[in-house]
Amino acid sequence: MKSVIVTGSTSGIGLAIATAFAGSGANVILNGFGEAGEIEAVRARLDGLGEGRVLYHPADMTRPEEIADLIGTAAEEFGGPDILVNNAGIQHVERIEDFPVDQWDRIIAINLSSSFHTIRAAVPHMKRKGWGRIVNVASAHGLVASPFKSAYVAAKHGIMGLTKTVALEIAENGITANAICPGYVLTPLVEKQIPDTARARGISETEVKNDVMLKLQPTKEFVAVEEVAAIAMFLASDAAKSINGTHISVDGGWTAQ
Ligand code: NAD
Repeated sequence: MKSVIVTGSTSGIGLAIATAFAGSGANVILNGFGEAGEIEAVRARLDGLGEGRVLYHPADMTRPEEIADLIGTAAEEFGGPDILVNNAGIQHVERIEDFPVDQWDRIIAINLSSSFHTIRAAVPHMKRKGWGRIVNVASAHGLVASPFKSAYVAAKHGIMGLTKTVALEIAENGITANAICPGYVLTPLVEKQIPDTARARGISETEVKNDVMLKLQPTKEFVAVEEVAAIAMFLASDAAKSINGTHISVDGGWTAQ
């Protein structure tokens, strides 16, 4: 039975990925912020989906020592993580000259450095087993930029470089490292940035959805969280064992332009 860690899985894409793995019978460690009662309800629901056990670990992705404890918990409970999904992420939308320094630091810590900390602690367990899968949830913004998202775009481009470097280091150990690059997925992260983008660009919230977000997405539809989860499941499967150091875009054609 495989054991899966999904960072930032109390909401949005991470929750969909954790749900898919729990449904497939894997052991899953949930992580992320939220109200304790709601998190426990999600944990209990996912625990009932398959054969595996579903646990929750509260590690804050800005804190390396808590991240080490998250991987340590997977080792103690499940003999180490077989599949690591680095998904936790936040956004801040503001002009570069007004961009708050603490938001820059926080986004780099959560969207980039946390994956360094999880991967460096998880790889020894995967090497010992001779099998592992690292799936980094990057973004179309790992490939192209948009204005007012300096920290996010920098972090997501960074995660693409980290993915490729790790892929080369672990290629002979039965481990793969890949990224998923979603376009706009309607989750709390996106819903929260609609008013900020409206303010930064001086337009209405409806115009942000139609003329900024979906303008870039040729399908003119938001991606569903389940579509991203399906790609994570595929990358974690044996069928994807030769896919290494690359990315799969789920962006309706955005980055084809
Ligand atoms: P979301 O806001 O719905 O979920 C983010 C998750 O990360 C939550 O569980 C939250 O509690 C957790 N999190 C935030 N800060 C954390 C911290 N310090 N420590 C631990 N957990 C923390 O967002 P989402 O849209 O599901 O985004 C998930 C990932 O997908 C992010 O990396 C995001 O950049 C990426 N992504 C999202 C979109 C999109 O359109 N929604 C597009 C491309 C990529």
